[in-house]
Amino acid sequence: MTQMNTADVIIIGAGVAGLSTAMQLAGRGAKVIVLERDRVGNGSTGRAAGLLGQLRGKAEQTRMLVDGLAIVKELEKLADVEIFVQTGSLRIAETPERAEEISALVEMGKSIGFDIDHMSIDDVARHLPYMRTDDLVDACYCPTDGHLQPAELAAAYLKVGKQRGVRCETNTPVTGIIVEAGQVRGVRTAAAEYFAPVVMNAGGPWSYLNAELAETVLPTAAIGHYYLTTRPDPANPVDRLSPAVRDRELRIYTRPESGGLIVGIYDAEPDRYDMGKLPADFDMSRMKAARDSLQVAQLIEATHHRFPWINERTPMTITTGIMTFTPDARPFCGEMPNIQGLFHCSGFSGHGIVQSPVIGLIMSQLILDGHSTYDVSSIEADRYFDMPGYIDRRDIEDRCAAMAGNYYGKVERPTVAAGGQAAK
Ligand SMILES: Cc1cc2nc3c(=O)[nH]c(=O)nc-3n(C[C@H](O)[C@H](O)[C@H](O)COP(=O)(O)OP(=O)(O)OC[C@H]3O[C@@H](n4cnc5c(N)ncnc54)[C@H](O)[C@@H]3O)c2cc1C
Repeated sequence: MTQMNTADVIIIGAGVAGLSTAMQLAGRGAKVIVLERDRVGNGSTGRAAGLLGQLRGKAEQTRMLVDGLAIVKELEKLADVEIFVQTGSLRIAETPERAEEISALVEMGKSIGFDIDHMSIDDVARHLPYMRTDDLVDACYCPTDGHLQPAELAAAYLKVGKQRGVRCETNTPVTGIIVEAGQVRGVRTAAAEYFAPVVMNAGGPWSYLNAELAETVLPTAAIGHYYLTTRPDPANPVDRLSPAVRDRELRIYTRPESGGLIVGIYDAEPDRYDMGKLPADFDMSRMKAARDSLQVAQLIEATHHRFPWINERTPMTITTGIMTFTPDARPFCGEMPNIQGLFHCSGFSGHGIVQSPVIGLIMSQLILDGHSTYDVSSIEADRYFDMPGYIDRRDIEDRCAAMAGNYYGKVERPTVAAGGQAAK
């Protein structure tokens, strides 16, 4: 064993989850080594659209994301960069059921002091003159939301992490997890062994394969996702501070990008990936979307409905990438009961960029203190442990793909319990 390769915590994966946690741990004096199979941010992080929406169906989750945005602002100061663009965001409703959903969300948001309110359709049309609004029945506006470039977020975590002593080794795939008598001891790569009493699996879409290295099951699945980016159109200018929009009925979200518009879709029947069958040097940044695929056709059709000036002839790029979904669309954060010291931090189900600031803090608390100051009951890693139906890969993939397919489609029913705390 070399002194060089020992740490308090080894983190597998240099995406936003791994790097945010590394920064927080090092801020509390822990010695951290991050091992990355490829380049920093080369997984889902490098493909993300970068929306930072804080509103969730549950009060506790919304509170976490509000705190996460405060961490981003602190990070900007520490790393001496400006990355967050505050545009505000809208949720729009075209059916009475969706209008009820919005009303419940506004009520829940207000109950915890989150800045949110209904917005009249006339005001929506004034904010977004390039969007169709004649079929809307209600909308709500969150002025503090916005977006950032995920690569810049990852770079900022790394910059501050390195200032605090984090060591990050790229082009270093972890090929084995060393476990002795139920306790993790470290990891193995092609060239070396690294030792630590804690290993955190932040492997994004690969994280279920990393869990298999320790002969454990992590019920996540690798799910495809698409968005388009239009070029600037003088007839339909998109201001850089135009609010993001979430249209759950059409399954789409949008934000401004370099004078054009990003529009992403949560497909009803998303692509599935077997990460184990992809080549060892698979590079997500090189993924190309088939322009004639059903997913792209559906993306353009839904976009055209909301933004009639965008159609299949509009100059645009299509981006596709791989997300990590779980059966309930909530991440797995913490230890499983069978291996002490092996923590998982994965399964962000399309929201890992926005969740990463607070998740880094939560993971550092779980690892160093054994508990968190946040209510983590809904994101505990062991919530499906050894449960029939969540062990076999095929079952897990079916459940995760079903959740992903229904993710934007389902109507949320936020409820506010006594004391302003949303009910579970
Ligand atoms: C097209 C698209 C759009 C998205 N848009 C948004 C958005 O607008 N807002 C939002 O919040 N989220 C968005 N997401 C989701 C977001 O990108 C992810 O939730 C987030 O990046 C997950 O970060 P991560 O660190 O968990 O995983 P990743 O970024 O995938 O990082 C995992 C890293 O682990 C490495 N790794 C894996 N196994 C090993 C190993 N054995 N050894 C060494 N290294 C290993 C990988 O190479 C990778 O770099 C989007 C995702 C996609 C695909």
